[in-house]
Amino acid sequence: MTWVRVLVALPLGLAFGSFLTLAIHRVPAGESVVRPLSRCPSCGTQLRAVDTVPIVSWIALRGRCHACGARISVAYPLTELATGGLFVAAALVFEDVWATALLAPFLGLLFALSVIDIRHHKIPNRLVYPAILLSAAWVVVADLAGSELSAPSAGIGFLAYGVGLLIVALISPRGMGMGDVKLAALVGLVLGSLGLDHVAVAAGLGILFGGVGAIVALVAGAGRKTPIPFGPYLAAGAALATFVGGQIADAYLSLIS
Ligand SMILES: [Zn+2]
Repeated sequence: MTWVRVLVALPLGLAFGSFLTLAIHRVPAGESVVRPLSRCPSCGTQLRAVDTVPIVSWIALRGRCHACGARISVAYPLTELATGGLFVAAALVFEDVWATALLAPFLGLLFALSVIDIRHHKIPNRLVYPAILLSAAWVVVADLAGSELSAPSAGIGFLAYGVGLLIVALISPRGMGMGDVKLAALVGLVLGSLGLDHVAVAAGLGILFGGVGAIVALVAGAGRKTPIPFGPYLAAGAALATFVGGQIADAYLSLIS
């Protein structure tokens, strides 16, 4: 029944991707993601319902606003496509529907937060706080319902990765920000529900990628005070750990034992 899971996951992912394109543009500007409905960024004309079908509308309009003809960035359909792809990947990797429904939007959110962090050097509380609350509620219900997700392990992951990065942020206040700490807590919570080995792999890879990124930025001429967005590195570590965290942890343990 794999193809059924893919057929369900793809449209949900495209729709969630549509929401994320809105969030990427509106949340950093302090605007609502619910109202008003989508508008053309150039002329402000409200988009017709037929203009908001993920990917299809952009192709049908040939990447232009129907009212003023202004170009609509290809980033919009690409974000929808990427999110659709992440949902399909989650549906293929996780047998458990509870896990799929948690990890698919989590991966999409990691992508959106990375884009926002690269552009604006911040990780908005308005996205991370609701994600933490919804994920925690979902994991508790899923655990009670007998899924493979573990609520106690999620709680430990939340504290371990969150407090761990909080210590790093306090030691090096210029590099790591509080946004990174909250993102790490979210990653610890969600991946912790799969198992603490996933959190360990996410943290190890995230800090490794972030360290390499910081060194590359320094070599490329960035000043020591230039803020480095760590969010995308933490997100990349978390995404890899989502899919192959168990395998990486096993390989590492067999190396050192
Ligand atoms: Zn327009």
